[in-house]
Amino acid sequence: MSKQDVIVIGAGVVGLSVAIAAQRRGLTVTVIDKEGPAAGASAGNAGAFAFTDILPLASPGILKKAPKWLLDPLGPLSLPPAYALRIAPWMVRFWRACSPARVEQAIAAQTAMMDLSKAELEPFLQQTGTADMLRKDGNLQVYESEAEFQDSLPGWQARAAHGIAFEHLNANEMTHIQPGLSPRFVRGTFTPGWFSIADPKLYTLALAEHFVATGGRLETAQAQTLKPDADGVTITTTGPDYRCAKVVVCAGAFSHRLARTIGERIPLETERGYNTTLPDNAFDLRTQITFGGHGFVVTKLTSGLRVGGAVELGGLELPPNYRRSEAMLKKAQEFLPGLDASGGKQWMGFRPSLPDSLPAIGAAKASANVLYAFGHGHLGLTQSAGTARLVADLLTGKPSALDLTPFSPQRF
Ligand SMILES: Cc1cc2nc3c(=O)[nH]c(=O)nc-3n(C[C@H](O)[C@H](O)[C@H](O)COP(=O)(O)OP(=O)(O)OC[C@H]3O[C@@H](n4cnc5c(N)ncnc54)[C@H](O)[C@@H]3O)c2cc1C
Repeated sequence: MSKQDVIVIGAGVVGLSVAIAAQRRGLTVTVIDKEGPAAGASAGNAGAFAFTDILPLASPGILKKAPKWLLDPLGPLSLPPAYALRIAPWMVRFWRACSPARVEQAIAAQTAMMDLSKAELEPFLQQTGTADMLRKDGNLQVYESEAEFQDSLPGWQARAAHGIAFEHLNANEMTHIQPGLSPRFVRGTFTPGWFSIADPKLYTLALAEHFVATGGRLETAQAQTLKPDADGVTITTTGPDYRCAKVVVCAGAFSHRLARTIGERIPLETERGYNTTLPDNAFDLRTQITFGGHGFVVTKLTSGLRVGGAVELGGLELPPNYRRSEAMLKKAQEFLPGLDASGGKQWMGFRPSLPDSLPAIGAAKASANVLYAFGHGHLGLTQSAGTARLVADLLTGKPSALDLTPFSPQRF
């Protein structure tokens, strides 16, 4: 059992970004993953660097929309009856996080995190040889009625107050950005500062390749327990035990299970999301489109055209319900009448979500040798480079680039 400086558990976009940043600080790093790199949510997401998405999901707006959404079992938000009781405590915390004061605090914390993540992203892409995967195509949010558009305005005002640029458009103006939209969309808002990655799975795999090429060790093993002591941490796995000075838990939606092994209960749940990836020529998409009233987006990726989103509060064990992917695809055909919906590949992934829509970044209660970096919800790709910087600072005892109080794993 050789002792590493750092072991990162989880080879998703967060774990690999953290591992690369730690390695660049001169630390010896091993990443272990139960399945190998890009096995989780990082592979199938919508590929957006949504730096302008500073409004937490937990907000008065969602409380208004949720009852209507929940009535449609294949709608943007669903709560399978088999999981309703299990998730009730998380829902109570989510509801508490919707108070105006908490929302203000969350926006301030999220804005700081987004600013850091945006500043870190391009240097990180340069260092890892992935800069050619960055796209700066913006995002078009579309509305079906003047009333829906008016309802969105307080959110845009909050973004404007934090310096985010956007442009409100009428139907005619939208056709210059994206031809072929259904005339049912009468208003839109274009956000030019919204970037994308050419393909989230290929990006995560490229990070894994870079990590190994620059001296990192990547191993397949499922971590079972963490055993911290004064000198470091022993990690028991389904294979051999591992020993390191510090461990960073980046196991996405499964991270709370490892925290439990050192006596810490973190209210991490999963917002399961679905998509269908169509062949490349399915539609001439010029920008990412968000159908906010229906909870999904359409994105062009190297691997094809991805139609996906939705939130299913169904935990980690229930089987996927791909009728959700089908329901979104059917709507996408109505909204983009020229879309060829044939030949698609369906996917379901686990967003790792904390009740206040902020990640957990910081040390475990039981030991300073155990760090957590998980719970990025809808924004793990977006915040990966920022998280990597923050964790590298924690590992090397440097002052933090941000006040980490709002991200404390012990805040609940
Ligand atoms: C439909 C959908 C669309 C999304 N769109 C976007 C988007 O456009 N932009 C954005 O920023 N975010 C988006 N997200 C969210 C984003 O995908 C996640 O926040 C992000 O991928 C989380 O990354 P992660 O590395 O923490 O977790 P993951 O990618 O899930 O990686 C966790 C890894 O840990 C491993 N693991 C788990 N338990 C263990 C264990 N015990 N031992 C060893 N390994 C373990 C898993 O195998 C996995 O590889 C979307 C998510 C979904 C579902």
